[in-house]
Amino acid sequence: MATIFSRIIAGEIPCYKVAENDRFFAFLDINPLAKGHTLVVPKCETDYIFDLDDQTLADMMVFAKQIAAKIKEFSQCNRVAVVVLGLEVPHAHIHLIPMNSENDVDFRKEKLKLTPEEFANIALELNK
Ligand code: AMP
Repeated sequence: MATIFSRIIAGEIPCYKVAENDRFFAFLDINPLAKGHTLVVPKCETDYIFDLDDQTLADMMVFAKQIAAKIKEFSQCNRVAVVVLGLEVPHAHIHLIPMNSENDVDFRKEKLKLTPEEFANIALELNK
């Protein structure tokens, strides 16, 4: 059965898309730690990120780098954190999270509750 991220990529489940090319897809995390929290995923279905072949892993990071630059400009944060958990969804993905301090990437924190309009506006800004 397709993962929820494959279904998002296929357009079967809605998302707030940030970027896409032929091999990778990026969209806003629905439970964000900060405005701009984005997930970067390969279109191929692999659970564990380090099971990706070397070239895909390298290219995924380059794709994420381009999005991180946009998140940094949008958020005016010091850095964009790169976090890999993969505990919930068995489809390799990188979290890109605007960060000013270590506390900003504490996944135990309560997530932001954003309205659909807020998500859409963030996605719009990151698509520029
Ligand atoms: P993890 O696999 O531990 O990295 O966590 C999966 C992440 O995917 C969580 O931060 C979820 O909020 C996020 N997530 C799960 N389903 C969706 C969805 N339909 N749209 C956007 N983000 C999602």
